[in-house]
Amino acid sequence: MPGNPNEIKLVNNAMSNATRRKIMNFLDEGDKTVEEIGAAAGKTMLDFHLKLLQQAGLMELKEGTASLSEYGRNFLKGKEEKDQEKSADLSQAKPIEITEVRQLLPCIADSSKFRTIANMAPPPGGVLKVIEPIFPRGRYSDRIGALIIQQNEVITTIYGTGKVTMTMIKNEEEAKNRLENLKVTINEAIAKGVAPAPREKVRVEAMEIYKYLPQTNCGKCGDQSCYTFAIKLMGGETSLDKCTPIKEPEYATNLEHLQVLSAYI
Ligand code: SF4
Repeated sequence: MPGNPNEIKLVNNAMSNATRRKIMNFLDEGDKTVEEIGAAAGKTMLDFHLKLLQQAGLMELKEGTASLSEYGRNFLKGKEEKDQEKSADLSQAKPIEITEVRQLLPCIADSSKFRTIANMAPPPGGVLKVIEPIFPRGRYSDRIGALIIQQNEVITTIYGTGKVTMTMIKNEEEAKNRLENLKVTINEAIAKGVAPAPREKVRVEAMEIYKYLPQTNCGKCGDQSCYTFAIKLMGGETSLDKCTPIKEPEYATNLEHLQVLSAYI
């Protein structure tokens, strides 16, 4: 059963992909042949997905038939219980309002764009974790207690305290429109009172990862080029922290994008 950080990382990586989650839920109905899994979840990269699930100890494959491991079964059961806890939390939530747009500062990555800071009231707190699934590129971070959402170039971070930051905003009007849409989406979920059905997460491609890397091919990560690094990152063969140049201030926004994207690899 996974327990050490590396094994937990394998499980998180395996379950961060929509196709692999689909396979796990399909196997929860009972043992399936590889052909049946291909028909239900798609045949693209099926061997790769099955390999990652096996490596994570979530499923077993014997003579063309796949089944959940004991750990895989317990994992799904635990997840279901957590989802039920989340529904209860949302039923207590109050609708939010955007109370102020406090500052528009120049963006670090592109000085023609702005960084916006706003406030949400009442503070959404734990609601953010519950509503994370409705944003195709949303990721809740327990570490900072915030929901981070990527929409094209713009990264929105909503903290449990109510503070909201947005990067790469063209002007105040765009900021206000985005904040209004955010408010409507969150309040719709709150009005329903139950945890929203997860939206299919957007698939991440190596080229998209590459787009946000420094593209200097400096080799500090141990790979010959940024593109090779992107491909390895997609395959789980390397980690983002091996690219040290991305931590430089000029790439601050790129790093935020990569952190959101890498949660869906
Ligand atoms: S360290 Fe970063 S910038 Fe340098 S080659 Fe690797 S991925 Fe590219």
